[in-house]
Amino acid sequence: MRVLVVEDEKDVASFVGKVLRQEKHAVDIAYDGKSGEDKALSESYDLILLDIMLPGKDGLSVLRALRDEGLRTPVLILSARGEVHDRVKGLDLGADDYLAKPFAVAELRARVRSLLRRNAEVKSPVLTLGALALDTVGHEVRVNGTLMELTNREYAILEYLLRNKNRLLSKGMIAEHVWDFHFEGDYNIIEVYIRRLRTKIEECGCPRIIHTVRNGGYVMREPE
Ligand code: CA
Repeated sequence: MRVLVVEDEKDVASFVGKVLRQEKHAVDIAYDGKSGEDKALSESYDLILLDIMLPGKDGLSVLRALRDEGLRTPVLILSARGEVHDRVKGLDLGADDYLAKPFAVAELRARVRSLLRRNAEVKSPVLTLGALALDTVGHEVRVNGTLMELTNREYAILEYLLRNKNRLLSKGMIAEHVWDFHFEGDYNIIEVYIRRLRTKIEECGCPRIIHTVRNGGYVMREPE
């Protein structure tokens, strides 16, 4: 999944980015409110981590602007301890959760997982389809109980497909939700990844579950 971190303290931003990348997410970072707001409105994120005290436009004003624009992406507020008033205000403005700094890494991970689950139909940390099971906590994928060896990018694509099973996903959507801003814009690479994923899944004895839709993209659904 793709996450935007809006945080002006470089150390905190890079630390949070590192933790999220370990969780196999694609991460973009904005160091001030205005560029965070611009990114949030122009790109497709699955989650936004938003600091309150930011140079230029503060986090609460950014949040208000995003919600006024109708953006419904989950927002996790990052705030220093003692800013209780700001946290309450943030929740009232449409934040989904908050995390007080300094925070424990385990708590950051758990809250991110919880927010990414919130919009999904399935609340379990294990996403399944047929014989396939993807554990978002342990980052393991099994087919009929057999562990699959996947690269981080393959895992991320599979997670995005599974979170949106039975929905038609264009290559553009996959690129937007799995890559950060470094995506080169060549959709052939997505075809390559899908082919590799299919091969790996089918080698484990699972019938085809990633289907190509002509001129459309891909849909993941139960084998017929
Ligand atoms: Ca700050």
